[in-house]
Amino acid sequence: MTAQLIDGKKVSQQILQKVAAQVQQRLDNQLRRPCLAVVLVGEDPASAVYVRNKKRACETTGFESRSYELPADTAEDELLALIDEMNADEGIDGILVQLPLPKHINSQMVLERIVPHKDVDGFHPYNIGRLVVKMPLMRPCTPKGVMTLLEAYGIDVVGKKAVIVGASNIVGRPQALEMLLARATVTICHSATQNLAAEVAAADIVVVGVGKPDFIKGEWIKSGAVVIDVGINRLANGQLCGDVEFAVARERAAMITPVPGGVGPMTIATLMENTLHAAQIHDQQ
Ligand code: NAP
Repeated sequence: MTAQLIDGKKVSQQILQKVAAQVQQRLDNQLRRPCLAVVLVGEDPASAVYVRNKKRACETTGFESRSYELPADTAEDELLALIDEMNADEGIDGILVQLPLPKHINSQMVLERIVPHKDVDGFHPYNIGRLVVKMPLMRPCTPKGVMTLLEAYGIDVVGKKAVIVGASNIVGRPQALEMLLARATVTICHSATQNLAAEVAAADIVVVGVGKPDFIKGEWIKSGAVVIDVGINRLANGQLCGDVEFAVARERAAMITPVPGGVGPMTIATLMENTLHAAQIHDQQ
């Protein structure tokens, strides 16, 4: 069996078009253009690329974007004061602080300073808690994007065995909560998991976010499984690859995401959906 490729680029374009149409409808109804504020501290080149892509997506969808590019030695207090200003600013719907922050800044404190209804990354403990209790508000972009991708390809997760490899706050943990919300039976694996191969081999759907190239061996994949690779790794030759041994996994899976062109574009498209949602909440306040 050669797996069907799950085309995140195509699905993300469809989402961006849908968001753009809803923005136009807002403008036709004399409602505000949604506004996303993006904060970048320091000059990490990968972060700069992510921020540029987010600004580009704002242009595509017709959002206003505001950008705050701060020097690497910005004090934590200064950043917190900026967030307080943005929280109070009626013109801003969504606030995104690009991670990682420089080491002298407590990232968790910064993320918790954003008011939850403007937390378009969905990282605030309030928003994670809402997902835990089956009342999601702002949902972390990457895991939500994965669920959108599964839905777009008609992959029913109800009652399926979903194995999540990786348990970080931004990928694995919220992904497990999304799968649970969608009524899958969920197993979460992390660096202390014993016999990872056997866990993966039992999965109908496997979602991997570890950050190690070829970490999940293709031969572990159950025949006919769905494989979602969240990993983004840059090899010495400059090429991007995921965490799954793609060529071998593709011969066993029914469907698989490529890297690049799988989950990556879905994360940004979901950020735009979340910002539109934040603007809708803002309208009602
Ligand atoms: P992270 O914070 O470093 O978390 C990695 C996770 O992998 C941890 O939970 C860790 O377990 C687990 N892990 C490490 N070694 C393992 C092992 N031997 N067996 C099983 N689990 C193991 O990374 P992250 O921020 O979640 O990112 C993961 C990957 O996703 C990276 O490649 C990143 O670039 C990518 N990513 C992609 C997108 C996208 O839009 N596509 C978005 C975000 C991240 P412990 O919890 O036990 O330490």
